[in-house]
Amino acid sequence: MAERMTIKPGENDILIVVDVQNDFLPGGALAVPEGDAVIEPINRLARAFRHVVLTQDWHPEGHASFASSHPAKQPFETTDLHYGPQVLWPDHCVQGTPGAEIARELDIPHAQLVIRKGYNAGIDSYSGFKEADRQTSTGPAGYLQERGFRRVFCAGLALDFCVAWTALDAAEAGFETYLIEDASRAIDTNGSLEKARQDLEAAGVRMIKSDQIVVA
Ligand SMILES: [Zn+2]
Repeated sequence: MAERMTIKPGENDILIVVDVQNDFLPGGALAVPEGDAVIEPINRLARAFRHVVLTQDWHPEGHASFASSHPAKQPFETTDLHYGPQVLWPDHCVQGTPGAEIARELDIPHAQLVIRKGYNAGIDSYSGFKEADRQTSTGPAGYLQERGFRRVFCAGLALDFCVAWTALDAAEAGFETYLIEDASRAIDTNGSLEKARQDLEAAGVRMIKSDQIVVA
């Protein structure tokens, strides 16, 4: 059996910690099952990376992705927005609310940037790179390219939405992209996890475990 690849993060590597926010943790408005289980591995992993950025879901009130914005719709149903099908969520990560704050237990004081997303009222944004209309950019591809990174490592919440879409866009932007599975947790609604796995594999995103990252 082939030896399992291990990776020692260096100057050309960056960790993107996706949406570890109160509303996605147990007790939050859109709690991801076992969402709090990502914090310990992410804190440990982050120490191996000199370069870390965070994403933060950051919606205005009445956002188009909220079921409450669509009469007669319930959370986790799908509707059609101008850019295509959209899963509807409970109200979550409303700008300036405690639920939108980055989890206090996340211990990454050296994080270099917080990328906010989902702030356009009519467009959702799972990815930290591009909004769900697949046109509107949130900017990090240019930022990461300008800073000379080659490899992007993604972890956080939720694996089958914001982590997956961020990883897919990183791969599309030309970065060698890894998703750290055990430092992520999924929502898994209507087959979303299996779909995400297929999309990630097709895009060449490598699924790894946190113990493959060498924490010096
Ligand atoms: Zn959201």
